[in-house]
Amino acid sequence: MRIDVPFIGRVEQQELDDWIEAINSRTGRFKLVPVEAMQPAQLQKTEVAIVANPDPEILSVLPNLKWVQSLWAGVEGLVGPAISNEVAIVRLTDPQMADSMAEAVLAWTLYLHRKMPHYAHQQSQKLWHTHSLAAPEECNVSVFGLGNLGSIAALRLKQNNFSVRGWSNSKKSINGIETFHGTNGFASILPATDIAVILLPLTKDTEGLFDKTTLTKLPTGASIINFARGPILVEEDLTECLNSKHLDHAVLDVFNNEPLPQDNPLWSHPGVTVLPHISAPTTLSTAAAITAKNIDNYLDTGEIPESVDRNRGY
Ligand code: NAP
Repeated sequence: MRIDVPFIGRVEQQELDDWIEAINSRTGRFKLVPVEAMQPAQLQKTEVAIVANPDPEILSVLPNLKWVQSLWAGVEGLVGPAISNEVAIVRLTDPQMADSMAEAVLAWTLYLHRKMPHYAHQQSQKLWHTHSLAAPEECNVSVFGLGNLGSIAALRLKQNNFSVRGWSNSKKSINGIETFHGTNGFASILPATDIAVILLPLTKDTEGLFDKTTLTKLPTGASIINFARGPILVEEDLTECLNSKHLDHAVLDVFNNEPLPQDNPLWSHPGVTVLPHISAPTTLSTAAAITAKNIDNYLDTGEIPESVDRNRGY
């Protein structure tokens, strides 16, 4: 008999229905049901739940909970007091998402490299003016965060002949990529960066990391791509660096407040391209298959997949 596994999340009804159908069609071991539909006695016994932006109060009524499978890659909203330290947090790691993010990083790197924001602006002014074109090898792209997403994005850039560097917490070795780590590595990589791609998780260490001090260490004319989380980049400091022409352009997919409020000046800043958090959307079919497999495996073997390190925050 299939056991019930609760879905705990604050998502639109259609999204909830889609997840339930996609996951339930990929497992014979359990049945995903909205937590509200479960009886108190069932909730007492629940060991695993699937979560997407869950209400912490609901999680606190599951005394036997051992782990949660998040449907999101970023877990900053789960780490902290929201979920008891006893409960393991497993985030979504999907190769399809990494592929999609690598494509986005390449696309928007090319957009900056080929000066498309400038040509779009010039067209609006009916201005015929050419900019010099450098070879990709001459363009230094630094990827900040070399995890599931950043490492694949760095390799995709390298395949397209960019000169690629990467920065992470621990030392890394990735073929063809010059790697840096830690505080010293950060100081070394910044001045060698024409395009900075942010793919770090939001943690207490990365919040506000790209502030004025950091941004002014980038060479004049550098650009930024933030595809990670809004609070890693200080919006006011970015605006100041764009206004002073220290930075050329910023492609932003993530913001402090999403959707970006109508009155936020970033919407109309000529040095900013605003994207509505679309660089690597979750693919329902692959994410549902990974989620179902993780829980099936747990039910068979008792093994919890690799989980978030609470101390690091990711
Ligand atoms: P991940 O696998 O956990 O990788 C994180 C990387 O950041 C690792 O290389 C880690 O270093 C590095 N890092 C973390 N803290 C650091 C610090 N203080 N100093 C230096 N390096 C640090 O995460 P991921 O799956 O690649 O995802 C990254 C982020 O992308 C997510 O957290 C999420 O916020 C964002 N995201 C955005 C979208 C979108 O559509 N915009 C979609 C999915 C995800 P180590 O390798 O040494 O640990």
